[in-house]
Amino acid sequence: LNKEFQVKPKSAKLFAKPTKVQVLSDISFELYEGETLSIVGESGCGKTTLGRCLVKGIPATTGQVIYRTEEEERVDFLKLKGKEAKRLRRDIQMIFQDPYSSLSPRMSVFDIISEPLVANFKLSRSEVEERVKDIAEKAGLNASYLRRYPHAFSGGQRQRIAIARALIMKPRLIVCDEAVSALDVSIQAQIINLLKDLQEQFKITYLFISHDLSIVQNISDRVAVMHLGRIVELAPTKALFAGPKHPYTEALMSAVPQPDPEADHSRIILDGEVPNPAHPPSGCHFHPRCAYRTEKCELQSPELREIADGHSVACHYAEQLNLRGVRHD
Ligand code: SF4
Repeated sequence: LNKEFQVKPKSAKLFAKPTKVQVLSDISFELYEGETLSIVGESGCGKTTLGRCLVKGIPATTGQVIYRTEEEERVDFLKLKGKEAKRLRRDIQMIFQDPYSSLSPRMSVFDIISEPLVANFKLSRSEVEERVKDIAEKAGLNASYLRRYPHAFSGGQRQRIAIARALIMKPRLIVCDEAVSALDVSIQAQIINLLKDLQEQFKITYLFISHDLSIVQNISDRVAVMHLGRIVELAPTKALFAGPKHPYTEALMSAVPQPDPEADHSRIILDGEVPNPAHPPSGCHFHPRCAYRTEKCELQSPELREIADGHSVACHYAEQLNLRGVRHD
């Protein structure tokens, strides 16, 4: 996938030329049924844009999203139109970060949860009621909550409402965009456990977008690390945390609390500013902030390549560097 945006300079005069910003560049990965793949990286790295391209919330500039249907057909989701697109869109739902603004304050919880169902299927009132009650219960919501309005609920309960709304369409994939970031730590744990239970029950696949590596470590099967619109490392969660192979991943991980008291607890502070995506650095985009850079890094852009089973890295020196992960013993 590639995605470009036209951005006007902030101090734009009326006729200032918009700049082209490459927000996603050569993004390519597979998402397996029933897994949780997390996408991590600093703000502005393109995580949310990637999630929205996948659910067709915003169109990619070039690329494909090949989707395997339940009938084992392979279709390019981005090319579908009309009824076919609408049908597949039901399979892919999204949960947003802020449960305070993502739910309409004028709709009752029942109407919020049932809205997508009513818009997509011809069902009797009693069928809708039955489905809503069932899903609300599975999301941990009491049936008595259904007549109330979102303002009556805490952040955690609101996120349960958002989850019930996504679940009612029986999706195969849910894109969770910072879905627990706005919640207190204890509530985060409850929502993560709920997402895991629902995944087991319904075999849902999650694309879990987050900047919080502690949460990601807990929920994911695999993790993709993004930097300036590219995937720089993609690996099974255990392998990534035990031995990151990209210096940017190492820096992100140094902020994760280490359970092992004898581990190195010092935080790696990256030098310099986050580069401007409108004018990315030459060669490896990470080189101005990388402690391991060489001349080659300034000149050549490293490809994302597989260096071990399922572990891909975009760094010229991935095999040579001995980087610090999160120690457990
Ligand atoms: Fe650092 Fe060079 Fe690897 Fe980029 S390619 S991450 S600059 S060592």
